[in-house]
Amino acid sequence: MLPTKECTGCSACFHICPKNCIAMVTDKHGFLYSQKNNDLCINCGLCEKICPVLNKEKESDTAQIISYAAKTTDENTRKRSSSGGIFSVIAKKVIENDGIVYGAAFDESFVVNHIGISSVDKLDLLRRSKYVQSNLNNSFVYVKNNLQHGKTVLFTGTPCQVEGLLAHLKKPYDNLITIDFVCHGVPSPDVWEYYKKHLEKQYKSTITDVNFRDKSLSWKNFSLRIEFKNGNVYSNTFGNDPYMKAFLANMDLRECCYSCKFKSTKHKSDITLADYWGINKINPAIDDDKGLSLVLINTAKGAALLTEAEKDLTCVKTDVEQAFPYNPCILKSVAKHNFYQYFLNNYNKGDFAKIVDDCLNPSYITRIRRKFLQIKNGDA
Ligand SMILES: Cc1cc2nc3c(=O)[nH]c(=O)nc-3n(C[C@H](O)[C@H](O)[C@H](O)COP(=O)(O)OP(=O)(O)OC[C@H]3O[C@@H](n4cnc5c(N)ncnc54)[C@H](O)[C@@H]3O)c2cc1C
Repeated sequence: MLPTKECTGCSACFHICPKNCIAMVTDKHGFLYSQKNNDLCINCGLCEKICPVLNKEKESDTAQIISYAAKTTDENTRKRSSSGGIFSVIAKKVIENDGIVYGAAFDESFVVNHIGISSVDKLDLLRRSKYVQSNLNNSFVYVKNNLQHGKTVLFTGTPCQVEGLLAHLKKPYDNLITIDFVCHGVPSPDVWEYYKKHLEKQYKSTITDVNFRDKSLSWKNFSLRIEFKNGNVYSNTFGNDPYMKAFLANMDLRECCYSCKFKSTKHKSDITLADYWGINKINPAIDDDKGLSLVLINTAKGAALLTEAEKDLTCVKTDVEQAFPYNPCILKSVAKHNFYQYFLNNYNKGDFAKIVDDCLNPSYITRIRRKFLQIKNGDA
């Protein structure tokens, strides 16, 4: 089976095992990993045949990429989306045609799970990036069932989640649409859990709303905004909020994100979405700092979808290569932070913000001491 550090937790092996000897088990940071019970295993090899990581072929990087800079014409939807709101435009069309849309939503405790929705009123649950790994639960099984019953399904998720679904389905379905995004990596669910509790304690109230991509200041300088039952509001820009600082400095991502097998300009999804970072330099005339998506068209189905959506979009052709320097995650995995292990061992032992800052700006002595500890513990 796949070494644990490469497992994305997509659950394709868990679903295919004919002996139910694979379980999805949470590790000490809240990430789900597949774990095989060797006593029950009959060595049929299905788990290895289906694993999207083990079977990943190197995509051609010379493929011609059709790409657009795009935003929805509905300003309210754009305001409530991470970038240009392209996900919402396509998802709305799918639902209006009696289809089902799967994506990541908060539950009532602000844990992130994949859910399926079939009403436009519920679309806001899926909107906006949630910077924590989402739990797929049984969504692959539900998607397959919907497809087999002739429903149109739009599945959205990280590139590894989309490839996990495609592996699970084993064959192409005309009624399936997949959208993924350029992915920085997914943070630990346990770090998020701790941070929520830490803020609830500080604000002496329970959380009632979370928005990782609040655009009140601007799209480029977005904020994490959290509302509490007692009326208090926490709001801090991504550059100042400790949770976002740890995420963007790569202190708490899933192990496989540091050597992601799904980095390529040509994804298996129909469409790949991204924030069009750098547009203020590339084409300032179309940047109003309210959100713009970079849209990569990967398949003929993706091209048809965009054509269908065009009347609800402002859309101009663009050259994706110009975006690479401003959005390195399109092509490359991020590098693990030097104090990754130290952070994960200590984030829940005191002042969260102080531990993040200690990792970002350690004194010379601290750096040497931690390096020594890492080498001693084999974490280097
Ligand atoms: C963890 C993460 C890392 C990202 N890293 C980058 C990056 O490095 N560069 C970049 O340009 N863009 C990145 N994005 C994507 C970007 O933030 C936008 O999601 C994308 O531009 C689409 O925006 P939108 O306005 O069209 O739609 P939105 O409404 O913002 O799209 C939301 C979609 O994202 C899905 N989604 C939200 N959170 C999760 C999650 N935790 N797991 C799986 N699916 C989720 C929802 O299901 C929905 O389909 C990242 C997103 C996430 C969730």
